[in-house]
Amino acid sequence: MRHTDDAIVNAMSIDVEDYFHVSVFDGIVPRSAWEQMESRVVGNTTRLLDIFDEFSTRSTFFVLGWVAERHPELVRAIAGRGHEIASHGYAHRLVYDQTPAAFRADVRRAKRLLEDCSGHRVLGYRAPSYSITPRSLWALDVLLEEGYEYASSIFPIRHDRYGIPVSGRRPYAIERSAGTLIEVPGSTTRLGPLNLPVAGGGYFRILPYWWTRSGIERVNRLESRPVVFYLHQWEIDPDQPKLHAGSLGRFRHYRNLHQTESRLRQLLTDFRFDTVKAVVSQTRSSVPHPDSMAYPLPYSW
Ligand SMILES: [Zn+2]
Repeated sequence: MRHTDDAIVNAMSIDVEDYFHVSVFDGIVPRSAWEQMESRVVGNTTRLLDIFDEFSTRSTFFVLGWVAERHPELVRAIAGRGHEIASHGYAHRLVYDQTPAAFRADVRRAKRLLEDCSGHRVLGYRAPSYSITPRSLWALDVLLEEGYEYASSIFPIRHDRYGIPVSGRRPYAIERSAGTLIEVPGSTTRLGPLNLPVAGGGYFRILPYWWTRSGIERVNRLESRPVVFYLHQWEIDPDQPKLHAGSLGRFRHYRNLHQTESRLRQLLTDFRFDTVKAVVSQTRSSVPHPDSMAYPLPYSW
């Protein structure tokens, strides 16, 4: 199928980290070894930029500060080609494994680096492995105090490492003492009492493509709103060095890498996309106020 010009504009997002930064390899590739690893982030991200040009699509790139520090020209290239630069933190530490002070230093350092490289204000933050959970809601205050305006960090699903299953499925405002943060969660579809992820990452790679296509169609048509799709740059790289993780980790990381690029092209043919910032501002007026929400907000935990 090919999308029509009046189709809903969804949000596209890419997490820019190298394959060895992924949480599943924590403890397998210690941080002290990162510098010695073969880096593939520039080549893969440049390929994604070329694909987005081909489809006249803009995306948000949640860039790891550690990557920006070593490849400032990459951040400049992403911004220069019309995409949004947002923050994936500096050192890819899970939020709930950090103290509030360490988290503040991490997100501050990343924001400064990315703003210096891109020349634009950084408004968005995505936590490594969606690690804002009931254990780390203090992070929302820190993000506001550090000048972030939106996050894409609370997945409304049940998962072994992340998620708040009853949190909002659509963008929503979170009122905190430090201000109002917009949370833009990864997209899900409802199946009975469950929220099932439909838009990105391992679900896009591991499950057949029709899962993603029908999930996005459901959200676009039945709920009349955009999805937030996400992918990592290493997911289009079947030639990346193989690292040793447990069997579940290996399955999640390596499954179907060789198919992701062609699936992404299909996705960009089937649906329209723009940056997260564009979709947030387009829907900002319809972001539900907490009082009108049918489900409890995460901050009530
Ligand atoms: Zn990440």
